[in-house]
Amino acid sequence: MPELPEVETIRTQLSEHLPFKIKKVNYSPVVGSLFGEKSFDPEGMEISEIKRYGKVLNFILGDQHILSGLGMTGGWIISKESLDEKHKHVEFICDDIYLSYVDPRRFGFIHYMDESGKENFLTRLGPDPFSKDFNAEYIYSVLKKYPNRQLKPFLLDQKYFAGIGNYLASEICALAGVRPTRRAGKVTKKEAGKLKEATDAILNKSIKANGATFWGGYRDTSGEKGDGLNHLVVFFQRDCGMCGGVVKKIILGGRGTFYCPKCQK
Ligand SMILES: [Zn+2]
Repeated sequence: MPELPEVETIRTQLSEHLPFKIKKVNYSPVVGSLFGEKSFDPEGMEISEIKRYGKVLNFILGDQHILSGLGMTGGWIISKESLDEKHKHVEFICDDIYLSYVDPRRFGFIHYMDESGKENFLTRLGPDPFSKDFNAEYIYSVLKKYPNRQLKPFLLDQKYFAGIGNYLASEICALAGVRPTRRAGKVTKKEAGKLKEATDAILNKSIKANGATFWGGYRDTSGEKGDGLNHLVVFFQRDCGMCGGVVKKIILGGRGTFYCPKCQK
């Protein structure tokens, strides 16, 4: 599932091809389930910039925005010729390039919004981990506010931690030395600082590796898989990347969760 590093990789790679002058748009017959709005007509418009907020991409076309969430299996792919893909749902035909949204399971979304619609949408998300608002004090105050929530499932809540997903949350807890099952209220100020440092560390490493691919889900804009699995210390690992001990797997909030009993307290 694409999380912040995978979405950022897609954003960076797409941005190398800007601007996209959309001459024509083609849709799949089932595209409707992805759209938040009925009117989606960017034909003749130009995507001049692409931003990212948490896991959401924001394509900027003048005063309009296309907000794209990739769900479980979504991705944007660039090609020189029209892409021959069964699960291609939107195809932007641009000057000398095709930009396609491919999403086999269709849990993604596409919103076409004006400035205020976009603002409204994005204020529902917590601060992006790369923004200055996402700091140790912020993390500590949110955890104190909901003391009974378990740390790792809490980190997946986009209302507070935009961009964090399942593998990142396991890794953040591991690098910070805190068990995923710990109640939020029991995380100390010092540990909140470590959670912030751990978030920076895993995000930077994953972005450098062009994202992580699990079970063939995520691909970058050229259809390549990231190699982000190589630098993970607990997620889907048998041995802890920090101490070499045996990693434990548990299910927390319905999601596979990995931790090292020796390194995490
Ligand atoms: Zn360990």
